[in-house]
Amino acid sequence: MILTFLGTAAANAYPEAFCRCENCERARVLGGPSLRKRSAALIDDDLLLDLGPDIMTAAFMHGCPLSSVHYCLQTHAHADHLDPSHFLSRSPGYGVIGAPRLHFYASPATVHRAARTFERDLSSDSLLDPEVGERLNLEIHRIEAFQSFSIGPYRVTTFPANHDPSVEPLLYAIEADGRSIFYGTDTATLPEEIWQAFHRRRMRFDIVVLDHTYGPEEPGSDHLSAHQVAGHVERMREEGLLTERARVFATHIAHEGNPAHPELVDFAARHGYEVAYDGLAVQA
Ligand SMILES: [Zn+2]
Ligand SMILES: [Zn+2]
Ligand SMILES: [Zn+2]
Repeated sequence: MILTFLGTAAANAYPEAFCRCENCERARVLGGPSLRKRSAALIDDDLLLDLGPDIMTAAFMHGCPLSSVHYCLQTHAHADHLDPSHFLSRSPGYGVIGAPRLHFYASPATVHRAARTFERDLSSDSLLDPEVGERLNLEIHRIEAFQSFSIGPYRVTTFPANHDPSVEPLLYAIEADGRSIFYGTDTATLPEEIWQAFHRRRMRFDIVVLDHTYGPEEPGSDHLSAHQVAGHVERMREEGLLTERARVFATHIAHEGNPAHPELVDFAARHGYEVAYDGLAVQA
């Protein structure tokens, strides 16, 4: 599997367009990997992680069109991860002819939130109406935490994120060709039941992606901080959850406490992980 990061910022992007803080100003000067769009990722060319607000821009900036995407695993319904206008814009009614049917996987609460937002802001139609799905070239699948299922060539396992429970957020393990990726944003510290489930299901990851909203000088709260990511990586290594060749990447990086890319890379290197950037493609 090839994992491409389409966006690696927290909810407000980095630099925050309205912000003049030291981190945002430095990111503007440096450009390149210091410029982060809202988080989303692509596996191979057909599996999207989050129908995020910046995926259109990411697709043309990083040369990875989404025209072969058959599946979307949605982490949750927060607006920095889900822009329901894409359901319309990728439909035949908007001139997208011949695209594969989109199989959209999300928790019941996230599906409910998506449908409500869609109906309120975009259309009088209900996303949950199968006829509307037909028109939008879309099939919605409700999934729960601790489920395993197959989609195309991928085996997917879901885990409950430690994040806003009102949207029933999910984290995903994706396996194919004997390789395994864990996509872990948005979440605060992983609860024990997830660690136990990793072991029970004999998971070993080749790539781990973790929420890194808060920087080296900040405590974590509703998201992970730099030191908590370092702690999670250490525990994963100690408990044999990483393969020998495993790589761990930080994503969902906020401007308030995280320095621009080069300095964050230095911190991460001293703590056993790497920092993702928009457009980075890695092979699992
Ligand atoms: Zn987020
Ligand atoms: Zn800023
Ligand atoms: Zn969130």
